[in-house]
Amino acid sequence: MILSDLSILENKTFPVIIIGSGPAGISTALELDKYNIESLIIEAGSRKYNEGQESYFNGYLNNSEFPSLNSRRTRAFGGTSYRWGGYCNRFEKEELEKWPLTHFELHEYENECNKILGLKNYHTDFYIRKFSNELNQYHIRFASNLKFEEHYYEKIKNSKNISLSLQTMFMEFRGLKNNVTSIKCKKDRKIFEIKSKYFVLACGGIENSRLLLWSQKKNPNLFNKNLQIGKKYMDHSARRGAAEGFLNYKKLINYFEKLNIKRDYYIDCLPRLYLSPNAVFREQKNILNTGVYIRVQNSKHNNPNINKFLRKAYCISPNFFKTVLEEDKKNEIYKFKVRLHPEQEPDLNNTVRLSDKLDPIGIPLPKISWRASEQMKLSNKISLISLGNFLVQNDIGRLAIDEKIFDINKFKFKFNGNHQIGGTCMGTDVNNSVVDKNLKVHFVNNLYINGSSTFPTSGHNHPTYTIVLLSLRLANHLKSKKDI
Ligand SMILES: Cc1cc2nc3c(=O)[nH]c(=O)nc-3n(C[C@H](O)[C@H](O)[C@H](O)COP(=O)(O)OP(=O)(O)OC[C@H]3O[C@@H](n4cnc5c(N)ncnc54)[C@H](O)[C@@H]3O)c2cc1C
Repeated sequence: MILSDLSILENKTFPVIIIGSGPAGISTALELDKYNIESLIIEAGSRKYNEGQESYFNGYLNNSEFPSLNSRRTRAFGGTSYRWGGYCNRFEKEELEKWPLTHFELHEYENECNKILGLKNYHTDFYIRKFSNELNQYHIRFASNLKFEEHYYEKIKNSKNISLSLQTMFMEFRGLKNNVTSIKCKKDRKIFEIKSKYFVLACGGIENSRLLLWSQKKNPNLFNKNLQIGKKYMDHSARRGAAEGFLNYKKLINYFEKLNIKRDYYIDCLPRLYLSPNAVFREQKNILNTGVYIRVQNSKHNNPNINKFLRKAYCISPNFFKTVLEEDKKNEIYKFKVRLHPEQEPDLNNTVRLSDKLDPIGIPLPKISWRASEQMKLSNKISLISLGNFLVQNDIGRLAIDEKIFDINKFKFKFNGNHQIGGTCMGTDVNNSVVDKNLKVHFVNNLYINGSSTFPTSGHNHPTYTIVLLSLRLANHLKSKKDI
């Protein structure tokens, strides 16, 4: 149901209050609803996205090249799913080794997650499989494309168990040592205090750190002062134009056939092919993961650009490119560009902190310090070289890597901000993390953080699939509480 007047809640204590109605908040509420557990969702935005809301989402970055934080987050019912691309993929088993959760624990609610995101079957539609000895292929043919606002507003409006209060700004947690008792929030210029047994903060990657830091500042007795809030912020900074090249489509298909990969699985892979170094190769080379995203630029042999490219190459290596030009005439040559999607390692120097500028309700705006490491650059270079070697060894094509990739000083990543990861990381060491494997804030009995801010490592993959898995796991954890 939709709540317009919060004064009726004065004497009410909810079982669960969820702050934020993005994919994280909505998935948690829907799963609780299945077990008849009542929850209240507090959402700062309106039902529909409205540009006027965005002044709350300003922020400061340590590099003027960075994009505005406003364009990377959405303040409305459904959160940033309003503008997401809908790509879904998941962490490999080996990538979860630094997580306090096992692969099984994280994926226990996979079927439900597929339903929430409108996906058919992860294993057939979103597989990860061997591409070469060093690279895996991710199948990203299907995207979820589900806008949470369009899909879930009516369901929540008609739910007996879920109450939703829109245009309601969460301000801080209140409570006594180790226990949150209520939240302070603002709606229609009035301040309310709403009570609950359990609280879930699900306001998105940067906001989770910001709002927790602010609550800690306002109520130092409620939170342990050593909590690593805002530390190890990670970003998936896409690096466009990292390489370009060409491949022979027929030869690539023959290669897939030799690997006995079913036609259905590879036939649609072009014009996009998404690869990443496999776990053994990563360990051998001591590198981070990287999405190597091949995007075909043309499929017609008479495209003037590719002819120009091949004619230039022909002058350098006439014997080899004579054959390629002949193949091109037969419409078999695809020219492509490569975009990198690097994993970023957790670094204590990459942080979300409170700035001295305030948002319209007086909460400090975030200040982000972020830099890409040499390890990221090295990992990306090695992954690209692996792709280049694969193309040569199998005589499928050739890759020209941008020369800046080989110069550590010229190879730059730009902060992207679409995937906001870390800041309230999950871990077992209370001095090096913020939440435990159930997403509960260390030393606070009834406060949970939900979203990609809890990921201990970033991987290279799109985060929302894992966010929804964690939300379902959280709801099932809360369900087991005796006092709910
Ligand atoms: C351009 C773009 C493309 C993307 N494409 C993909 C993709 O293809 N695949 C993928 O997996 N991910 C993608 N993402 C990321 C994806 O959108 C996020 O991972 C996802 O939305 C995070 O969900 P969330 O619920 O944690 O946070 P959000 O969706 O950000 O929701 C947080 C909610 O909290 C509310 N809130 C904030 N502050 C307060 C407050 N003080 N009081 C009350 N409410 C508050 C906000 O209004 C918002 O509704 C993309 C993001 C962008 C920007």
